[in-house]
Amino acid sequence: MTHNTVDRRTLLRATGLVAGGLLLDAGAAHGLTPSSAPATSPPTPDEAWAKLREGNRRWASGTAIHPHQDLARRAGTAQNQEPYAVVVSCIDSRVPPEIVFDTGIGDLLSVRSAAQTIDPLVSGAIEYGPAELDTPLIVVLGHQRCGAVAAAAHALHEDTRLPGDLHHIVEALRPAYRRASGNTDKMIRINTADVVAKLKADKLFVPRIARKQLKIVGCYYSLDTGQVTRVV
Ligand SMILES: [Zn+2]
Repeated sequence: MTHNTVDRRTLLRATGLVAGGLLLDAGAAHGLTPSSAPATSPPTPDEAWAKLREGNRRWASGTAIHPHQDLARRAGTAQNQEPYAVVVSCIDSRVPPEIVFDTGIGDLLSVRSAAQTIDPLVSGAIEYGPAELDTPLIVVLGHQRCGAVAAAAHALHEDTRLPGDLHHIVEALRPAYRRASGNTDKMIRINTADVVAKLKADKLFVPRIARKQLKIVGCYYSLDTGQVTRVV
């Protein structure tokens, strides 16, 4: 760990304490007591993945318990957060990570973009979890009938340019389009695997993966069944 990293983390934590203090004062005024602070030792990557899989089983089977969504959890996490996973998913309104993994406040860092495409700003947001909060797991989550992937495939097939910044999404999906042979569902899975490969090559993540402090997995979410399955 470099001195720069230590200084930055110290600064972030100090800033968090100031902000947390304000929130705690507000909570105390409403009679809230922090009673469900996050565990002090973070889970391993495999333990984090097991928690998400179990949460998704509950969601898919209609037995969600909606954990960590009460006032005690809000007060308990007001000064600090220890999320156990970063979920990189699509903006699609049908795929909110906290719901499909049956989690709550303080559990996940959610990073969302169209078809979970990444650029330096998005990558920076993903890096924040492992690099600053020691988050042990990154899940890249593609999904069935992704409208962004379908629109990009159509634009590339017709050789048309989408307006505004939408064409940047199309360009990010061009490599997956080339290898999908016109199959949109295959393109969704290829793109998910491509994003995982890019993140595994991230220079902040390579040493953490080698030390088994971080795992990066690619998954596919079925709108029909609610189930998340591994792609890579
Ligand atoms: Zn989508």
